[in-house]
Amino acid sequence: MVQYLRAVPVLVDVDPRQHLILSSEIEKKITHKTKAIIPVHFSGHPAEMDRIMEIAREFNLFVIDDAAHAFPSRYRENYVGNLAHASCFSFYATKTLTTGEGGMVTTSNGDWAERIGRLRLHGISKTAWKRYSEQGSWSYDVTEPGYKYNTTDMASAMGLVQLGKTEFTLNRRKAIAEKYTEAFDQSELIEPYMERAGCNSSWHLYCPKLNLDALKISRDEFLQRLDERGVATSLHFIPLYRFTALKDMGIQDYKQEFPNCEYVFERVFSLPIYPDLQDEEVDYIVEVVLQTLEENRR
Ligand SMILES: *Cc1c(COP(=O)(O)O)cnc(C)c1O
Repeated sequence: MVQYLRAVPVLVDVDPRQHLILSSEIEKKITHKTKAIIPVHFSGHPAEMDRIMEIAREFNLFVIDDAAHAFPSRYRENYVGNLAHASCFSFYATKTLTTGEGGMVTTSNGDWAERIGRLRLHGISKTAWKRYSEQGSWSYDVTEPGYKYNTTDMASAMGLVQLGKTEFTLNRRKAIAEKYTEAFDQSELIEPYMERAGCNSSWHLYCPKLNLDALKISRDEFLQRLDERGVATSLHFIPLYRFTALKDMGIQDYKQEFPNCEYVFERVFSLPIYPDLQDEEVDYIVEVVLQTLEENRR
């Protein structure tokens, strides 16, 4: 999105525990050209929003948070979606609430809300509901060139049903995360993935890290062993600067510029976490992970 707008993305390193934007590194990257800070609430753990909003105030910047993983995540007393100038949620197929495709922007700025609502459907001043329902009228204006980013009514119907299951699905993911953490906390071969104080994750992802210094195998080999025993894993994420589309940022030495991100990328993996995952399956996954670790202790 940043590149669509012909703006220049500037990347900031992450913290090595929850893999969130490192607020102490933000200021170093701010120049007179900087317009906004875009924190990602990675995996559902909320970024350090108090500090980030403070920096934004100081430098007169907007904060747009990437809340694709953060439904529903809480930071102190507030839900993500209430903390930044605008928050962008995703309802893509893999997310905690899905409508197949689609998403949501939340903002407390009424002018932005009105404009976003207009731009999502061709820049038309009235929705079809306002034109064709009983109280509506046929006339409308096109106020500026818009897009075709409207959520369909059918997708919304699916989303509303999912919304009603939020408490169940969150509790289930949280219970699975707790089981993983409890088991991995006993081993020095793996670092469990935990919430920061005052933060509640949506538990979209569970991303532990291997203690590579104490193991004979690499993370990739470890994941291969898990796969052989029927445990499906994934990896979130390949750092942005490693992608072809961002190669023109010209980053030469990854480890030098993003030491924490490279540290995480070498060690991290994602374990299954979704509401239908059964307790016996979680037990099996824990057993396979711990056994595989012990078998490969250095
Ligand atoms: C899924 C995702 C997005 C994009 O969401 P879309 O609905 O596919 O546009 C953005 N950021 C993160 C971190 C995501 O995981």
